Amino acid sequence: MAGTFSMAPSRTRSKVSAKGGRKRLRFKRQGPIHVNLAAILSIDHTCRGCTRPETCCCARYEVCVDTAEINRIIQVLPEAAKLCPHLKTAKGYDNVFEEVDPGLYAIDTDDDGLCVFAFMAGHTIRCSLHSTALNLGLPLEKVKPQACLLWPLSSSENNEFLSLDNESLSFRCISRRRNPSRKLSPSLLETIKLLYGETFSAQLEKEAGKGLQHTKLYRKVLLNYPS
Ligand code: SF4
Repeated sequence: MAGTFSMAPSRTRSKVSAKGGRKRLRFKRQGPIHVNLAAILSIDHTCRGCTRPETCCCARYEVCVDTAEINRIIQVLPEAAKLCPHLKTAKGYDNVFEEVDPGLYAIDTDDDGLCVFAFMAGHTIRCSLHSTALNLGLPLEKVKPQACLLWPLSSSENNEFLSLDNESLSFRCISRRRNPSRKLSPSLLETIKLLYGETFSAQLEKEAGKGLQHTKLYRKVLLNYPS
């Protein structure tokens, strides 16, 4: 597949200032992680797909990926382009990554600010990288950007803190719980399991069950990405 990827000049379709923030994630491999359980336990999250870009997290943020993530995306570009034909050019595929910091690239957006990997499935906006992973039977983390996998959770840049994205409550897929709970929303637990591993998520569930509001857990290896 690499042979069919042509690096055309990156198109800038959005302004960073028009965005709600930057979705970026750089996991360090080990160390303690402070978890804001109070924030994470305060919400439920259910993604059913948005109908309009204005309400969609795929249009609110500037999504950033590193070179390893780009390489993984390039591997599945032909499959993603079946859902997003605008990714194709006469000579191959458009370069939709723009370097914003050394080694960090923002994914281009369309005129509505929607990520170029988004597409309409019926009346809802969906992620072609997510669908591609499912269609090819690949683990999500082998295809989809880490920052998108983690949302609506957020990690500090040095990955010492795990909490809830500040803006998450402005999205309809997020609801604030009326009553205090010691159980994490199933989708958030799944996210933590995916990115931090089963042991970490099981420990976190236990800590939440004790009624803790904050906890510190230690991980030796956070992500186990296939190369
Ligand atoms: S990569 Fe997928 S989940 Fe992330 S912003 Fe783009 S369409 Fe949305």
